Amino acid sequence: MDTIVAKITNDSLTDKKIYEQAGKILREGGLVAFPTETVYGLGANALDDEAVKKIFIAKGRPQDNPLIIHVSTKEISGLVKDVPEVAQKIIDKFWPGPLTVILEKKDIIPNVTSANLNTIGIRMPNSEIALKLIELAERPIAAPSANISGRPSPTEVERCVEDLNGRVDYIIGGESSDIGVESTIVDCTVNPPLVLRPGGITLEMLKEINPEIELDKALKSKPNDDFKPKAPGMKYKHYAPNAHLKIIKGKNEKTIEIINEIVENYIEKGNDVAILTTNENLNKFNNGKVISLGSENDLKEIAKNLFETLRKCDDLRVQYILCQGFEENGVGLAIMNRLNKAAGYDILEV
Ligand code: AMP
Ligand code: MG
Repeated sequence: MDTIVAKITNDSLTDKKIYEQAGKILREGGLVAFPTETVYGLGANALDDEAVKKIFIAKGRPQDNPLIIHVSTKEISGLVKDVPEVAQKIIDKFWPGPLTVILEKKDIIPNVTSANLNTIGIRMPNSEIALKLIELAERPIAAPSANISGRPSPTEVERCVEDLNGRVDYIIGGESSDIGVESTIVDCTVNPPLVLRPGGITLEMLKEINPEIELDKALKSKPNDDFKPKAPGMKYKHYAPNAHLKIIKGKNEKTIEIINEIVENYIEKGNDVAILTTNENLNKFNNGKVISLGSENDLKEIAKNLFETLRKCDDLRVQYILCQGFEENGVGLAIMNRLNKAAGYDILEV
């Protein structure tokens, strides 16, 4: 399949043509990748089961992993049976933004989209490009991240092209994703609501709406039989670079000491190694390709750079990546959730 790649600029005539072409493709059952503030999404008409099936094929996504529907308005009564009071408060406060609510779906939403669940995740993104496209498509758009399943999510259009060129109809570029990790998912079909996936909207922010909102217990450990994650997608290895990623967690100076030791060992055996750290620690390593994710005082910056940096490590063709762990509060919870999965839970506590 020929994929058209087009970038939104500030030239209104060119942009108009891009939106019209892409909107038409979506209406006719095709696939369009587009930027959002979390990560790039791969969109299809959420109400057209044939169109949605194409997403699963293009990504190689397991069919039991439901999609999130993207809308351009807070008015969602046509899609869901009921919006409980707490869900409405969450929507009013955080939409448009990096927050997905799980609600009971109406039959208009095909089972392929919800992976046979009777619930559905819905989000109104806060990207002008995404909102315009959804509006023009005149349909709710199912959109998982625009990567081959299992790979780090794209936050730059070049990464969508890398993964999806030839597999989708259209790829729209024009901005990098600012948040850098996927949306926070809150299950509002249970009381109190449960956070199924941490993201840019933090647990602390949600607790201001309802202090009883909690994390899915399965998020606190490696998925196992006792604690199966309630979001089907959270059980898969995910976000992973080709290189083997290992997380080193503990007091800063100790993690630096241990990373220096491990790097020597890897290099002695003829391997190339990347080290992911913060601006503050950049010159504390003796060997290896040292890369900063951002300042230790700015977790938002670290989240924004996370997936792109994992992909850059693959560009460097290293065999191993060693990454310092982060505190698991605020956005740090989302960062560590993605890192743990990308590492297949290879975590060394020192
Ligand atoms: P992605 O689109 O790649 O960001 O993945 C969407 C995530 O949302 C996956 O982890 C899904 O399992 C989760 N998800 C989507 N719909 C539901 C739902 N109805 N109930 C629970 N989790 C969901
Ligand atoms: Mg994804």
